[in-house]
Amino acid sequence: MSIAKQIETLEQLVAVDEQIKQLTDGISGHRGELDQVAEEVSILEGQISADQNSIAEMDKTRGELVQELRQLGDQIGRSRDRLQRARNSRETNAAEREVKELGELRRDRDHEIKKLGDLTEQARDNLAQAETRKSELEARLAGSIEGTTKTITDLEEQLTSLREQRQAAKSKLPSLLMRRYERLLERRGSAVAKTHDGTCLGCNVQLPPMLYTQMLQQTRFEECPMCHRIIYYTPKPQPGEDAVEPGAEEAGDEAASPEATS
Ligand SMILES: [Zn+2]
Repeated sequence: MSIAKQIETLEQLVAVDEQIKQLTDGISGHRGELDQVAEEVSILEGQISADQNSIAEMDKTRGELVQELRQLGDQIGRSRDRLQRARNSRETNAAEREVKELGELRRDRDHEIKKLGDLTEQARDNLAQAETRKSELEARLAGSIEGTTKTITDLEEQLTSLREQRQAAKSKLPSLLMRRYERLLERRGSAVAKTHDGTCLGCNVQLPPMLYTQMLQQTRFEECPMCHRIIYYTPKPQPGEDAVEPGAEEAGDEAASPEATS
C-alpha cells in the first residue's frame, strides 16, 4: 500500500476514534444520570430500614415500660392497702414511704413513655418522608430507565459498528505503526499529527528542516520530536476543502508558534 493510501486510511481511523470517544463519553454520561438516582434510592433504603429498626426497638421498650407501669400500679395498690391496715406508726411510716417511692417511680416511667412516644412519632414522620421520596425517585427511574436504556443501546450499536470500521482500517495499516498508534492514543488521547508547512499541527512546534524535507516526499511516517505523535506531510487544503486536523490541540492555528512566522 502506498504511503498516500495509508495516510487516507490513517485519517479514517483517526476520525472513527474521535467518534468512538464522543460516543463513549455520551454513554457514560447517560449511565451516570441513572446511577445517581439509583444511588439516592439505595441511600434512602438504608435510611428506611434504620428507621424501621429503631421504631421497632422503641415500640418494644415502650411496651416493656407500660408493663412495668401496670405492675407499679398494682404495687401502689397493695401499699395503700397496707397503709390502711397499719396498726402502728412504724407500719404507717413504712407504707407511706413505699407509696411515695413507688409513686415517684411511676412518674419517671410515665415520663419515659411519653418521651419515647414523641421520639417514635418523629421517627415515623422521617420514615414516611423517606418512603415518599423513595417512591418518587423509583417512579422517575422507571420513567427514564426505558428512554435512557434505549438511548444507551442505540449508542452501543453505533459503537459496535464504529469498532468494526476501526478494525477494518487497522488491518490495512502496518502492525508496527498500529502498535505505536494505540500506545500514543492511550497515553496522549491522540496519536496522529500532520504538517502542511513544517509545523507539527499536534503540538505547534517547528519540525527540524531536514526531517521536514524528507517528509515532503511522503515515503514514510515520521515521529514528531516534540510530541512524539505519528506525523506526515500533506499539502495545505485549499479554501473550501474540509480541513480536519487529526490530533490538533489548537485546531490548525499554525501562526500560534513564534518559530513558524520568523
Ligand atoms: Zn508534535
